[in-house]
Amino acid sequence: MTFSKDKSAQKSALITGVLGQDGYHLSNQLLEKGYDVIGTTRKNLNAVNPSGSESWIKRVTLVQLDLTDEQQILELVKSRELDEIYLLGGVSSVHYSNQFPVETMKVNTLSTLYFLKAVQQSSPNTKVLLASSAEIFGYDNTEKLTETSPLNAASPYGISKLAAHLFVESFRKNYNIFACCGILFNHESSRRGDQFVTKKITQTLVDFAVNGGPKLAIGNLGVCRDWGYAPEYTEGMYLALQSDRARDYIFATGQGESIRTFITESASVLGMELVWEGSELNETATDRISGREVVYVDPKYFRPVDANVMLGNPEFAHNVLGWKAKTNLSGIVKEMIEAELRKVESKRHD
Ligand code: NAP
Repeated sequence: MTFSKDKSAQKSALITGVLGQDGYHLSNQLLEKGYDVIGTTRKNLNAVNPSGSESWIKRVTLVQLDLTDEQQILELVKSRELDEIYLLGGVSSVHYSNQFPVETMKVNTLSTLYFLKAVQQSSPNTKVLLASSAEIFGYDNTEKLTETSPLNAASPYGISKLAAHLFVESFRKNYNIFACCGILFNHESSRRGDQFVTKKITQTLVDFAVNGGPKLAIGNLGVCRDWGYAPEYTEGMYLALQSDRARDYIFATGQGESIRTFITESASVLGMELVWEGSELNETATDRISGREVVYVDPKYFRPVDANVMLGNPEFAHNVLGWKAKTNLSGIVKEMIEAELRKVESKRHD
């Protein structure tokens, strides 16, 4: 069975959630490779303003799509000769999913099922990549997670991703659809959504350092995460669909760092030297150079349930796809802080 149209023709890819962090990186990479990129958003297209640094959107065919509308998804897949579909759109925050579990199941799980059905019925040679998540493994793991680790999702977000993940496997096995899951561990960049802790840290510290803004209030400092650099993860998604067989892959660095280290590294890019004192709810960080307190713990930011450690083993993706995370935490933090500084600078010139 062949999985692409005429090899010499321009390839076309559909990306849901194209205006999100990964949508930005993936669409730019695919455009660079000569793809025709169609991107979906739930937003009214008149409200999307592709000017200045957002002018990349003009190179994408933007379509307004409701991810819970089965008919609209079927028509979209039927009407375009798509080589690849990347399912990135949907609820991406555990916190939001705790507040809106029903919406989370609809936009994360049902939309995946609608796309798989549409491909099976009307475009069986189209390859599909689902942005699955490390949250499918739940929170009680101490070992590095692999593609065969037990699936124990705990949050509504994790459950919605796990169900979508299982649908991908089911359509691959039952209907021979070329469908893969990228089991993504945390990945960051300056495009990270404002609701995520890494963005909150970099934004608040830049505001603190440059504008004398408020201190950083934070939850559990000891939580350890496997943080990678987003453009490398979207490159991994692309590689998964270029492989000879559809499989699922862990995309992770294999290295863990705490929130405390993320903060220390971020402050260091801004010329601060943090000294940590106290423990648990009384822990604070002070800048050794200025003597000012920069960080304190606020219990309001503790999650009801959370994993202390979440580490992935990326060996399989490395062996099969030649994929490897290259940028370490210092590199990620530097890119995020420098982008925040540029934003502050451009606001000054407005
Ligand atoms: P993101 O920046 O939040 O982008 C997701 C996009 O989905 C949003 O820009 C939004 O676009 C759309 N969306 C959000 N909530 C929605 C809702 N309730 N209904 C319909 N559409 C909604 O996420 P990302 O970091 O690019 O992540 C891409 C995918 O990878 C997501 O599926 C995420 O769950 C998964 N993932 C990410 C990470 C990570 O660390 N970044 C880790 C594991 C898995 P519009 O408003 O324009 O429609």
